[in-house]
Amino acid sequence: MAKFAADLTDIEFLLFDVLKIQSHQTDIDRESCREIIHEYEKFTRQEIFPTREPSDRDGVKLEGGKVIAPSYMAKLHRAFHENGWYALGVKEQWGGTPVPEALAIAGLSLATGANTGYMMYPGLTKAAMNVIAQKGAAWMQQHIIPKMMGGTWGGSMCLTEPGAGSDVGALRTTATPLANGEYSIKGTKIFISSGEVDFYENTIHLVLAKTPSDRPGTKGISLFVVPRYRIDTATGAMQSQQWNQVRCSKVEEKMGIHSSATCELQFGEQGECRGYLIGDEFEGMSTMFIMMNEARLLCGLQGESQACLTYEMAKQYASERVQFDHTLDQHPDVIRMLHRMRSMSRGLRHLMLFTANAFDQLHRSQEQQSADYEYLQDLVGLLTPICKAYATEQGLQMSLESVQVHGGYGYCTEYGVEQFVRDTLIGRIYEGTNGIQAIDFLTRKVFRQNGQVFARFLQERNGFMEQLAAHYPKEVALYGQVVQSLQQQLKQLGAELAQKQVPKALGKAYDLLFCCSGVVVASLLAESSCVASKAAGYAAPYLAEKQQDAALFIKYHLVNCLAQLKTLELS
Ligand SMILES: Cc1cc2nc3c(=O)[nH]c(=O)nc-3n(C[C@H](O)[C@H](O)[C@H](O)COP(=O)(O)OP(=O)(O)OC[C@H]3O[C@@H](n4cnc5c(N)ncnc54)[C@H](O)[C@@H]3O)c2cc1C
Repeated sequence: MAKFAADLTDIEFLLFDVLKIQSHQTDIDRESCREIIHEYEKFTRQEIFPTREPSDRDGVKLEGGKVIAPSYMAKLHRAFHENGWYALGVKEQWGGTPVPEALAIAGLSLATGANTGYMMYPGLTKAAMNVIAQKGAAWMQQHIIPKMMGGTWGGSMCLTEPGAGSDVGALRTTATPLANGEYSIKGTKIFISSGEVDFYENTIHLVLAKTPSDRPGTKGISLFVVPRYRIDTATGAMQSQQWNQVRCSKVEEKMGIHSSATCELQFGEQGECRGYLIGDEFEGMSTMFIMMNEARLLCGLQGESQACLTYEMAKQYASERVQFDHTLDQHPDVIRMLHRMRSMSRGLRHLMLFTANAFDQLHRSQEQQSADYEYLQDLVGLLTPICKAYATEQGLQMSLESVQVHGGYGYCTEYGVEQFVRDTLIGRIYEGTNGIQAIDFLTRKVFRQNGQVFARFLQERNGFMEQLAAHYPKEVALYGQVVQSLQQQLKQLGAELAQKQVPKALGKAYDLLFCCSGVVVASLLAESSCVASKAAGYAAPYLAEKQQDAALFIKYHLVNCLAQLKTLELS
């Protein structure tokens, strides 16, 4: 049977020795951070992971017009909130426990890997809550946030419609102004995660809709807070007898994430569905981007967390199963697979924690009005599509590799590894498909400040690559070859965009995003390899592995970028 395992040593090494999060916040020391991550791991192992397999099997059901989850999901949900895990990383102002962002993300990664479907409920609720915290009216902040913090109200993100998937601007849901300043919402949204579930008394939908205007596409879109049950805006009381005409008409049958309810929602089908404008009229897309950017990082975290957990399971299995008188982990081809998985999963972990840390630095630089603010803002913008697309793609690849390490048992359900394949695959599709992420990366991110953001990121890590070259000259030479060829391609693409050869450039966007991602992860791993060469306080085998990880990543993963770069040359 599958057992939960987490590489707490690697998490601690990245948090404390590489990112040094203990120095960011004066009121929290290394020991307290350590205690939090160990407690989070314990809760994940004891409470979340045991629900992974049964909730995949039982799923959620639409019965009598209500979306019902198995009772153990409601129990887990209560425990998640009561033990303070939802509140971790939330500002004190909202009743949360502020901690460095990378620490919160490290914990969230453990939980997400252990039951990806369940974790979508608190994930989407928190993302909706953050929009309300930043843009909501006082009554929303006063009455909705405490309910979300308590776990009794959920949140959802409603963009997609039958005719509007990637093309959000084609949506047809309408918001008609009422005399009292509220809006009447009418339309159908599909594929809405956490659209409804019985462990929430009420769900607050953030709905994109069009108000009457002749503005085309996304320019005519505004964002609305639409509760499932009406709320008295003066007192915050939920008028539980007053259903707000939001009906779940279907729960999708799907390949994976069975514990996450994917709902078709009808708004105002037979009566008035009231919505409240959040942010300015026609600013719906930029307001929703607060939520979408967070959801994209969470989506990347789904890929990363499952890559990390499935690697741990493969490692454990390979150390126990004997074939040809030896455990699997002594056979060279299995060692190759484990090395591929270790270097990628640790690389993805470093990427996610680095990005979370960059958010902390961004917030601090804003408070201190530091000169780095603009760079950090562009850096997190650059890293968001990388985290989303690269981590989801590689999460899937690592899940497939784990099945291979488990052989026939991997293909069968007993060890729970085939579930990773089914659960990770959706990450490439939702929150903007990876193809759409690539377009965003090419047209809005990589050329910001004349490409100086990406260049500065790499430059800051050049010294680590040079140090690595002392032990791994061939791998570092290969990295240099990839970077050089990538820079040529970026120049070429920049010229194509300037000459308005947009379709040609767009055809290269996906390979470009993946090459940039590979280079980013290789350079982060080079940094951690160098830190490991001087670190103390960790077991020698771990430090030896860590010094090897960057070279393994270049050998097994970055090398593929050479083929992708050739594709770019040929396009
Ligand atoms: C399980 C699940 C949960 C979801 N949760 C939510 C949710 O909570 N909220 C929500 O609003 N939506 C949600 N979605 C919807 C999801 O975001 C969309 O499915 C996704 O954005 C793609 O839209 P589509 O399915 O219509 O595909 P399409 O837009 O039809 O795309 C199909 C293919 O064409 C490509 N493509 C489309 N346009 C372009 C272009 N201009 N250039 C290049 N390639 C293009 C895409 O990359 C993709 O490969 C969910 C979907 C699923 C399956």
